[in-house]
Amino acid sequence: MSKIPGHEDSLCTDDSVEDGLQQESDELDASDIASIDPKNSSSDEGFEGFGFSNALLTTISSIGYKEPSPIQKAAFPDLMLGRDLVGQAQTGTGKTAAFALPLIERLQGASKRPQVLVLAPTRELALQVADSFREYAAGHTRIKIQAVYGGADFRSQITAFKRGVDVVVGTPGRVMDHIRQGTFDTTDLRSLVLDEADEMLRMGFIDDVEWILDQLPKERQLILFSATMPKEIRSLSKRYLNSPAEITIKSRSDDARLIRQRFLIIQNSFKLKALTRVLETVTGEGVIVFARTKAITLSVAESLETCGHDVAVLNGDVPQNQRERTIERLRKGSVNILVATDVAARGLDVDRIGLVINYDMPFDSEAYVHRIGRTGRAGRNGEAILFVTPRERRFVRSLENTVGQAIELMQIPSNSLINESRINRLRGRLVTSLAVGRDDEKEIALMQEMIETISSEKNVSEKELAFAALNLVVGPNSFLVHGDEGWLDQSSQQSRRTNYREDRFGQGGRRSARANRQPEEHMERFRVEVGHRDRVKPGNLVGAIANEAGLQGRMIGRIQIFESHSFVDLPKGMPKDIFENLKRLKVMNRELNIHRST
Ligand code: AMP
Repeated sequence: MSKIPGHEDSLCTDDSVEDGLQQESDELDASDIASIDPKNSSSDEGFEGFGFSNALLTTISSIGYKEPSPIQKAAFPDLMLGRDLVGQAQTGTGKTAAFALPLIERLQGASKRPQVLVLAPTRELALQVADSFREYAAGHTRIKIQAVYGGADFRSQITAFKRGVDVVVGTPGRVMDHIRQGTFDTTDLRSLVLDEADEMLRMGFIDDVEWILDQLPKERQLILFSATMPKEIRSLSKRYLNSPAEITIKSRSDDARLIRQRFLIIQNSFKLKALTRVLETVTGEGVIVFARTKAITLSVAESLETCGHDVAVLNGDVPQNQRERTIERLRKGSVNILVATDVAARGLDVDRIGLVINYDMPFDSEAYVHRIGRTGRAGRNGEAILFVTPRERRFVRSLENTVGQAIELMQIPSNSLINESRINRLRGRLVTSLAVGRDDEKEIALMQEMIETISSEKNVSEKELAFAALNLVVGPNSFLVHGDEGWLDQSSQQSRRTNYREDRFGQGGRRSARANRQPEEHMERFRVEVGHRDRVKPGNLVGAIANEAGLQGRMIGRIQIFESHSFVDLPKGMPKDIFENLKRLKVMNRELNIHRST
């Protein structure tokens, strides 16, 4: 999706720490597990006939699933028999239930040690899969499900393992740590699922996955799901899986588009912050952000640009010929994010759109269907995220009815999720660079020679040089996000401040009206590219500008701070050289890039 802004662009989100881990207190009760005879499964309809217990059938029906999806129909019989399975399927096909339901049914009551392990490439997916397991295990008392992932408190995970866990859902690194430390005892593991195996490969986890596979008991069931089947995944499956059943679910581009749909609850005034966070963590190809008005498209695009994204705008003011050029740029990937109004994006058909963000609620469900239909094209994976204000939340249900599919609630990505995503991307870039290498022999020789000479001249090891090279790639700004996350919770609460001026500026209407006043006679208004996002205070601007321009603080006029920029009133007739110096001046680690406000 979006070009992820380099960390060198620093953070367009606020900062801080986190984080809790998911725990579950459901307990397994052997009496809930009805006797299962999958061979008797014969029914063609519904979930009956696969040998599921009454408890599970009741849960499925209360969730509202009427028919198993194709992948579920294909997977249930083999998985209920404990067979290995390789499934090629994307998110949105119902693959989680395809493995979770049979695995829940096959859990045995006696052990305190984990019986099922699901490995997922990201923390977000791990949490989601753990949540699905909980939902599906609602009728089975005493099943304990534990999500383990990096960034979360290690000790509470250890405590959970000590208390007893049936199903572990985790990211490879953290799972490995627990196995190594002996906190995760694999003796009783009966089933292992590799979810989104190709993503794990892409993110450089494949060695960790193999290490984990090597720790499993000889008698175990292996299930592998992957959207694509690169040769590494094929060979892994050949080496580890035992005569697996094979299922391929092809996505159809028209009526059965596979679009994962989610929503997050957010007050208008926090939407921009939430958007930058979502764009850091949801990865894929091109992105379309839908906004309600032309003015919002402009302010969103401006803000994203400041964060280092390649953005284009499509609204009713964009003339036809430019519109076509913009779409072409999006198609080719020279622009990654398009911020558009509904009318302007009508009929837009670009295959590489991996994510649609409904920054504002669509006017009706038809518009919603049209918007999300810009992704998941040509059989590709698509994701749609809907920003919903607390008051709009009640409309989600009617959208779900229209699309005939659940729209899942998601959280605004936390610091640790963003950090995990940054670390994974960096790691992925490094691993890809290792694999891709370089074609030009001369250039290779040159680089190798450079490494050798520098390490002998400076008397440093190649490890130290590798660190320096990575440091260069990461850039001088903070690589990880820290700081206040208080607003993440606050931002989904009902707010009384909902007028439009607040939406755009995150400030009270009265204050905005005041801000619109023209500068005084002898003053000129300048715009600087630093704002609330950078935690700038008026004093920072006064101090920096006064020092650089040789002005006394009191000569600096009104200062208005907005999300990604600020306005400063300065005396007219500023000398050119001072102006040039001010442009390069950094405040809160960001260049002011000062220019006259028109
Ligand atoms: P997944 O591919 O596992 O991410 O699932 C995609 C979505 O389909 C989730 O929101 C599930 O709750 C939903 N889902 C899974 N199985 C069914 C089913 N048999 N009927 C209706 N919805 C389902």
